Amino acid sequence: MNQFDFHKKGGITVQTAHIFPVIKKWLYSEKDIFLREIVSNACDAVTKLRRLASLGQYDGGDEIYRVDVTLDKDAKTLTVSDNGIGMTAEELDRYICQIALSGALEFVEKYEGENNNNGIIGHFGLGFYSSFMVSERVEVITKSYTDSPAVHWNCNAEGEFETTTGMRESHGTTVVMHICEEEAAYLEQEKIEEILEKYCAFMPVEIYFSVENDGDKKDAEDAPAPINDTTPLWLKNPSDCTEEEYKEFYHKVFHDWRDPLFWIHVNADYPLNFRGILYFPRITNEFESIEGQVKLYYNQVFVADNIKEVIPEYLLMLKGVLDCPELPLNVSRSYLQNNTYVSRVATHITKKVADKLNSLCNIAREEYEKVWNDIRTFVEYACMRDRKFYDRVKDSLLLELTDGSFMTTADYLEAAKEKHENTVYYTSDKAAQAQYIAMFSAEGIRIAVCQKPLDAQFLSTLEVYDSTVKYLRIDADIASALKQNGDADIKEELVALFKKVSDNEELKVEFASLKDAGIPALITLSEQSRRMDEMLKLYAMNGMDMGMSSYPQQITLTLNLASPLISKLETMAGERQEIMAASLWGLAKLSQKKLSAEELQKFLADSYSVLELL
Ligand code: ADP
Repeated sequence: MNQFDFHKKGGITVQTAHIFPVIKKWLYSEKDIFLREIVSNACDAVTKLRRLASLGQYDGGDEIYRVDVTLDKDAKTLTVSDNGIGMTAEELDRYICQIALSGALEFVEKYEGENNNNGIIGHFGLGFYSSFMVSERVEVITKSYTDSPAVHWNCNAEGEFETTTGMRESHGTTVVMHICEEEAAYLEQEKIEEILEKYCAFMPVEIYFSVENDGDKKDAEDAPAPINDTTPLWLKNPSDCTEEEYKEFYHKVFHDWRDPLFWIHVNADYPLNFRGILYFPRITNEFESIEGQVKLYYNQVFVADNIKEVIPEYLLMLKGVLDCPELPLNVSRSYLQNNTYVSRVATHITKKVADKLNSLCNIAREEYEKVWNDIRTFVEYACMRDRKFYDRVKDSLLLELTDGSFMTTADYLEAAKEKHENTVYYTSDKAAQAQYIAMFSAEGIRIAVCQKPLDAQFLSTLEVYDSTVKYLRIDADIASALKQNGDADIKEELVALFKKVSDNEELKVEFASLKDAGIPALITLSEQSRRMDEMLKLYAMNGMDMGMSSYPQQITLTLNLASPLISKLETMAGERQEIMAASLWGLAKLSQKKLSAEELQKFLADSYSVLELL
């Protein structure tokens, strides 16, 4: 038997014989990739022969190319066989015993120190020798497409090998992996099917899977279908793909029975040269975690899911496939983060997504409004993460109004110009702020609904991006919304009265004349102080000490001079007036849900007094 005669070069220090145990015990969680490596080598071998045929350097007639994966339970082998280009004895020595080995050595060298394998993307680069992760012996029987005789190579897990004359009539290569005892899981049909489905579903040559000598299970079907789709949809020209095809592809790949909302077929030619389809998934309820899945492929070979180094993090909320044959995958993740090709791919995808949103908004507005609430969280998150994305889509951001209609921010501001400039009024809780909604609606002011978890943060981000537009919660500021009603007179007597009943000398009392006369008094909290308070509470919840756990709230009481109750209050005096003022104050606080236990008690007592007065 031979031992690898490996000539040390450069910085390689891993002993050739040492590499086998390292490969074996290593990559614990990613062992599955060995099959991807061997099957993709088989596909490459076929692709090479096809190319020679297309160049007229090989005449294969109407040969049908295929790859066969066979599981033999008795022999405890997993075999991958192709009718591709094959290798001569010299080629086998050069490609397998020298080049592939040195590649594997280099790979192991480079990554041996990386614990938990996080530094490696999809474990590209280990190649042929990854078969030793699961095998105690690997045989290669190969015959070149030229006239050279077949060769048989037989290598054990210690790296001892033997090359003899092979028994093979036709060109191609068969790799027989003798699965070792500890890895017996790879002799299970389900396991192999799962790996093939995950990694090989779109490889470019038809792959057939069969099981031999499987006692109780029925034999493989007579004419089995290939397990893969050799021409995945993303490779087709978008104009040749039908809506049905896109949906079907989505159902199949993401096992989601619902239809996607819409999709983007990215087709970038030179110099980026990548393709893919990104789907906006349908989200049925708000609480469903929006966890997407973007599958990365390298020439139709699956690499890994959700590689955040390649795809902008917020796009990972989508579902899709990306095939990037130019990606340098045998490098570390941290290298990819600073790679210009990668960032150009990311920019390209981001632009396509923005273009799609803009075109839906401009051309298919009705459809866009229908899906807005489904995609909104994604869009908002993306805007917050990426200013450039925001700049691209800012004119397509919709506001949902309390009446269920939609408007872009620009349209909203334009329509509101006369009443309130550069201010968007919003409600964060339609039920709790119902009284304010009624009041604003009576004034003819539109209110945006911003009650999704992300909204508060999103609005702050918008104000940073464009400081000319303010977002005010409807219980924050009434005076500015009512400017058109003219300034109301200040009634000093009432100011003093309410300072007294609220037991707050600092209370700000304002007067307005509201169209809705049914509302006597409203409490508002300044937008800024409320936001500060919310932030401090959030920090406190996360265990951060900011030196204070709540922010002093600036409370304003607005009295509605159009309300008959306020007119009546003015005519009263003494105890009766005080009791009524206290009740109005209590009711105003109640509608803000701001009563403390003590205040609630006092409010109830005041209310009973009012009843006595009747
Ligand atoms: P890579 O595929 O990245 O080049 P591998 O270690 O997987 O690295 O394979 C090394 C080389 O061995 C291949 O480049 C190819 O020349 C040869 N080879 C491997 N498998 C086959 C096969 N099934 N048929 C023909 N040649 C093969």
